[in-house]
Amino acid sequence: MTTQMYDVVVIGGGAAGLSAALTLSRARRSVLVIDAGSPRNAPASHAHNYLGREGIAPGQLLAIGREEASGYGAEIVEGEAVAAEKLPGGAGFRVVREDGIAVTARRLLVTTGLVDELPPIPGLAERWGRDVLHCPYCHGWEVRDLPVGIVALSPMAVHQALLWRQWSDDVTLFLHHAPEPGDEEYEQLAARGIAVVDGEVTGLEVSGDRLTGVRLADGRVVPRAAVVVQPRFTARSGVLDGLGLHATALEVGGHTVGTYIAADPAGATEVPGVWVAGNVTNLMEQVIGAAAAGQKAGAAINGHLMTEDVRRAVEARRAPFSAEAERQVCEKTLGSRRHGLQETR
Ligand SMILES: Cc1cc2nc3c(=O)[nH]c(=O)nc-3n(C[C@H](O)[C@H](O)[C@H](O)COP(=O)(O)OP(=O)(O)OC[C@H]3O[C@@H](n4cnc5c(N)ncnc54)[C@H](O)[C@@H]3O)c2cc1C
Repeated sequence: MTTQMYDVVVIGGGAAGLSAALTLSRARRSVLVIDAGSPRNAPASHAHNYLGREGIAPGQLLAIGREEASGYGAEIVEGEAVAAEKLPGGAGFRVVREDGIAVTARRLLVTTGLVDELPPIPGLAERWGRDVLHCPYCHGWEVRDLPVGIVALSPMAVHQALLWRQWSDDVTLFLHHAPEPGDEEYEQLAARGIAVVDGEVTGLEVSGDRLTGVRLADGRVVPRAAVVVQPRFTARSGVLDGLGLHATALEVGGHTVGTYIAADPAGATEVPGVWVAGNVTNLMEQVIGAAAAGQKAGAAINGHLMTEDVRRAVEARRAPFSAEAERQVCEKTLGSRRHGLQETR
């Protein structure tokens, strides 16, 4: 790694970070991507709904992205960024990796994603992304027509059950610790043929590395081929703490579903010069949306840098006898003849 001042350091090399790196390197900006190598969808064997690459393995999509971005000059290094701070005098930012190596940049883009915090039901984490699922658009087609169980963890569970019913006509809602559905919700569930089972879910039944059922506290086992949960989506934003940027709770229907870093539509945060994109700021973003957000943030950062470049050039032009002004005048007045002058010296 060089000690240069990069135009942009991108922390996180998932879909959002690599897409931004591609945009910025094609805009002839110097870019360094620092990536810890744990994208959120790593447990899944395939990534779906990415137009043009439907069903691609998550690791393969990122390998293609790394190749594309580095083809235009982006530097990509493995590692975890542990701290970021402002340099004095508005000179940019300093980012420190876990191995102590520090890099500096004029702008910072954080695309570190989120952590899916699963409920503490034994056996759930081991099967996450395989037959313990959350997103019907990611996995619904793969479990279509199979017996699906929704483990209620929030007031949104009824909505989840009604949604998953689109993929299977055999959906069971396990009430677990969630509040009892209201009369109107019971009517909706009944109208769509969704069974409701009360009692605490205490574990999963597995046979031959396949989920076969949901175990309840009273010993009942309800046969199921897939289980759906609502994880808590926690922004992976610790690296921003030193910049005074902290995650905000996202509430839906009075229930906290996760945390995110607030930003404007292009990803600019309240700290000038610091951008965010992807799941760290939008908990619902899918891979193609994260890539699009990274592209948008990359273009916005380039625009921000361009404005600063122009301001500096104007200042230099106005300042008499500055080194920069002399260089620009020399360039303009002598042009290619400058080389001739040098030769005769
Ligand atoms: C099981 C599962 C299956 C899914 N399937 C699909 C699907 O089929 N289709 C779909 O569209 N979406 C799917 N998703 C959602 C998808 O994973 C996200 O939309 C996508 O990963 C978001 O991209 P991102 O770039 O914001 O974050 P991520 O892909 O999570 O990338 C963040 C990167 O930043 C790195 N990082 C984090 N902290 C640091 C740090 N401090 N320093 C350096 N690097 C750091 C991480 O290691 C990671 O490489 C799935 C999610 C899950 C959980």
